Order: sequence, then C-alpha cells, then structure tokens
Amino acid sequence: MNLTGLHLLLSYRCTYECDHCFVRSSPFAAGTMTLSFVRDVLQQAADAGTITSIYFEGGEPFLYYPILLQGVKEARAKGFDVGIVSNGWFAETVEDALEWLRPFADMGEVAFSFSDDDYHGDASSEETPAARARQAAAQLGMEAGSIAIEPPCGEYDPQTPGEPILGGGVRFRGRAVEKLADKTLPRRTWESFDHCPDEDWDEIGRLHLDAYGNLFNCQGIVLGNLQTQTLREVIDSWEPDSHPIVGPLKRGGPAELVRFFDLDLQGRYLDACHLCFLARKVLLDRYPDLLAPTQVYRDV
Ligand code: SF4
Repeated sequence: MNLTGLHLLLSYRCTYECDHCFVRSSPFAAGTMTLSFVRDVLQQAADAGTITSIYFEGGEPFLYYPILLQGVKEARAKGFDVGIVSNGWFAETVEDALEWLRPFADMGEVAFSFSDDDYHGDASSEETPAARARQAAAQLGMEAGSIAIEPPCGEYDPQTPGEPILGGGVRFRGRAVEKLADKTLPRRTWESFDHCPDEDWDEIGRLHLDAYGNLFNCQGIVLGNLQTQTLREVIDSWEPDSHPIVGPLKRGGPAELVRFFDLDLQGRYLDACHLCFLARKVLLDRYPDLLAPTQVYRDV
C-alpha cells in the first residue's frame, strides 16, 4: 500500500435513499461512529506515518454534527488535511448554511465536496441545498466542489484507478443494481469484464473505514478490520494476491471471480461493477467477514 488518505464513513445513515448509492445508505441505515472510535482511528492514522488527509463522509456526516465538528477539529490538530463530503441538506438558505459551516472556517485546510445532481434533493428546484452550501463555503473562504453523478447511459467513463469518483455515469453496484439496471441499456458478455477499472490493488492510496471497523478501497470488499487489527497491521500485512476476493479480481477482473468460483453468472452485464457486485452477492454467506457489512449488499 501507498496509503495517504483515510475516508471515515461517519455513518451509513443519510437524509436520502438515492437509487445510485453504492453503500445503500438511507434514513434508516445503522452503523454510526462514536467519538471515541473516531479519536482512536485518528491516532492510528497519525501513527501509520504516511497518511496526510482524512475525509469525513457517509451516508451524511452532517446528521451527526457535533461528532463531525469535534472529529474535524481533532484531525486538524493532528496536522491532517481534512475533506468533508455532504449533500448539503442543512442549507435551507445561504444565511443558515453560513452558520453551519462557520466553525469549520476557523480550522484551516478543510475542503468540502457537495453532492449535487438529480439523485440528491429536488431536481426540479432552481437552487439545490448543495448549491447554497457551496456558496456559503465560498463566502467563508473554504474550498468547495461538487460531486455530480449522471444517469446511466450505457457508456462507461474511464477514470484513473484508485482515484475517487467525482462525476461521470452511475457505477452499477449497491442500490444501482436494484434500481437502475434498466434492461434497455446496452450490455456486454461477462467474459469481457476482465479487469477492475477503478482500483489499483497493489498501490492502494486511500482506504474507507466504516463504524464496524471494516476497511475497504472498493466498499463492500473488506481488506482488514480495526476491531481485530490495528491500521498499521492491516497496511503491513496487505497481500492482494492471497485475498480470496481481491486475488481473482486482480488476476482477471470480475470475469475471473465468476470463473474461479464457478458461479452461474455467464450472462450479459452493464459494466464491470455490475458483474462484480452480483458475483460478490452470491459469495456473501461464504465470506461474511470479507464481504461486509451485509447492509451494503441487501436489506438486513
Ligand atoms: S465493484 Fe468490482 S469492478 Fe467495480 S470498482 Fe469495485 S472491485 Fe472494481
């Protein structure tokens, strides 16, 4: 690993239940970090020695405002650059958003990304909450960008493996498989999905961590768990080739997962993630610790 970023899924809970959400967040989702867990993780991140940035995301981190605020404060005190990903739901007006965001402005090096697309909020309204939140952040002198996911159109948007997805079309994993896998969209045969387009398994630069201790690069594929290991131990012991799920994925993408486990999935799929997600769902009961938490795969 070449780990420089740690992304905390502060909670799986969210104000919305978006069709494209790959962690299947909703207003009812369980799995929220406590302040003491956040503190422990920040210390472990500092001890790891290579991590320079901490992201707070979800779900919707502003649902747990006091914990978010304190977590950001303590991350900044440890010298991390901090990013926050939110849908900006709290921004009823720009004036209100200024009050929500002002405490972060004094901490320096806090950057915001606001999800702002047809999946978040009221697409018919002229001004989205995310747009108001972005305006308030800018007025406070903070960096604020947008994450905009487009509806599926059958064209796959290539990106640099290992980089966060900030735009382009929907990836068919999580709830998108149930809600958006339109039968009229163009599909390709399973064998053509012979590599993972988004992840670099050898040079992992950022990891996501959830409230259950699960560490992932692609959410739902567990690389280690902080309830049984330290972050340092996970980093030092990482061997992608010997991971039961990542090994086949690295060798030959989702198609190799199907081949290696002899899965009955020799059909046509919308993208690599579509086949990968369905293959992992079949393997859930066989690898409950490595394909977790169950709530990102199906209702629990
Ligand atoms: S779902 Fe599978 S193919 Fe898609 S980014 Fe994740 S690991 Fe790669």
